[in-house]
Amino acid sequence: MTESDNRVVVVTGGSRGIGRAICAALGAPGTTVYFNYNSDLVAAQTTAAGIEAAGGKPIYHQVDVASESAVAGYLGAVLKESGRIDVLVNNAGITRDGLLVRMKEADWNAVMDVNLKGTFNCMKVAAKAMMKQRYGRIINISSVVGVSGNPGQANYVASKAGIIGLTKAVARELASRNITVNAVAPGYIDTDMTGDLDDKAKAAMIGQIPMGRIGTPQDIAGVVAFLASAAADYITGQTIHVSGGMYM
Ligand code: NAP
Repeated sequence: MTESDNRVVVVTGGSRGIGRAICAALGAPGTTVYFNYNSDLVAAQTTAAGIEAAGGKPIYHQVDVASESAVAGYLGAVLKESGRIDVLVNNAGITRDGLLVRMKEADWNAVMDVNLKGTFNCMKVAAKAMMKQRYGRIINISSVVGVSGNPGQANYVASKAGIIGLTKAVARELASRNITVNAVAPGYIDTDMTGDLDDKAKAAMIGQIPMGRIGTPQDIAGVVAFLASAAADYITGQTIHVSGGMYM
């Protein structure tokens, strides 16, 4: 199967922010976009409307990606219903910021469980189906800080650096089956996740961006759509930075 056939796409954390933009960007006519949310059903309904506006078919469920059994049940049901998964985008992510010496074990575990283990959980199920299909495109959302480091985010940075290593390992395992696995590393993007920053902190962040502006969810979604497209068929194991030059 190639890009032009009716595609089945799975996006985690599609209810808001970057995930919502990815859902719309991948929701071309003929595409079924399965996405999950964690708690925000109303936001998920808005994402579904965006997919429909793009011509795609949205199907959404509440799923905690940190739970291996929940993910296995969810993706098992997707496969039963659709017969395949062409594209998996592991986007769901959280932060629980704090300095290392004050970081609670629960905050370490929560971030690792959602960001890194959630990515592992979804890839494990999708990869089995993709291997049978001899086709698959997996795109994992990392972060610029997973490469550069960031004070106050030891848990988040470790999870995002882990995603890059995980991406490379699985890319090597699956390449011979025509399955590509890549990471996208966003810089500072305007979403709820960054919405808490005050004006002073925002100005300081923008000062670190050579292009002089905050990124939009669409800036990330366009690159994800490229990696999911036939134009990227010979790219695997890579981390594409989309950060206005924050990291070079
Ligand atoms: P966001 O606006 O906070 O949205 C997070 C999404 O993840 C929501 O859809 C949320 O669902 C979902 N989610 C959270 N916990 C989940 C769980 N346990 N199971 C399933 N879904 C869960 O975040 P964002 O800024 O769009 O970030 C998306 C991705 O980009 C994340 O991986 C983040 O680390 C990464 N990133 C963001 C930035 C940035 O500047 N914004 C920069 C670099 C990387 P609910 O709506 O139900 O809560």
